Amino acid sequence: MKANIRFWGVKGSIASQASKFGSNTSCVELDLGDSNSIFFDAGTGIRAATQNRIFKSLNLFISHFHWDHIQGLPFLNGLGRDDIKVSIYSGFEDIRERLQHLFDPRFHPVSLKDYESQLEIHHFHPGEKMELMGLQIETALLNHPGKSYAYKVSGRSSSFCYATDSDYDPVPDEASRLLHQTDFAIVDSQYLSGDFLEKADYGHSSFQRAIDVCAEHRVKNCLLFHFDPNYSDAELENLERQAQDYSQSKYSKNAPKVMMSREGLQIPLNL
Ligand SMILES: [Zn+2]
Ligand SMILES: [Zn+2]
Repeated sequence: MKANIRFWGVKGSIASQASKFGSNTSCVELDLGDSNSIFFDAGTGIRAATQNRIFKSLNLFISHFHWDHIQGLPFLNGLGRDDIKVSIYSGFEDIRERLQHLFDPRFHPVSLKDYESQLEIHHFHPGEKMELMGLQIETALLNHPGKSYAYKVSGRSSSFCYATDSDYDPVPDEASRLLHQTDFAIVDSQYLSGDFLEKADYGHSSFQRAIDVCAEHRVKNCLLFHFDPNYSDAELENLERQAQDYSQSKYSKNAPKVMMSREGLQIPLNL
């Protein structure tokens, strides 16, 4: 199946200043063509991602409910249209309650029950496998305050993994199984090494650790993601340079291909 990975938001924590990498928070689309898409997270990037588009199926997998992964959801273009079904998946048992909070009339003018007819809310158990549009979706828990979930999408020819918001030291066993030999993995690379040392217990990762995890799991393409919003373009370019040097010098022939994710980037994928 021909698909496209499209990046709509790559920043962590909070939407930030205009940048060549983009300003929006986490939102990645797996565009399966024919107006069918799977989205990973609904950070502020999901607003533009859904603008002027009609979806036959719009599936949204939420890694966790920190603001930078859900704040765009009330602004998903298409909410309020009964002809667009939106299916939301999460590993948190109280998913409905969490969504009700997000649409609480004290914080947002439209409540969740006004969208009830077009929303399908699904809860999965960590480690559960699902089938969607002929693809296999696997799930696993990551190391993050309040928990976060990783997703792997596999077709006949290749696989894609979304595994952000995690300290990868260590990688939980199930997440390790998901990452193993994945063709494209989106990984938490929030920090340059100095900042990582100061913030080692924040549940995020440095680019070195993200690359190590990809190399250890023989991931072919390592897509660095979820950047600290305080970094300037110069600092992010520096992170990119350091990351590519680190990967080449440490792993040479076995180095995963390291890429910075950025808003607007599209990567064709034969799933
Ligand atoms: Zn985050
Ligand atoms: Zn988080």
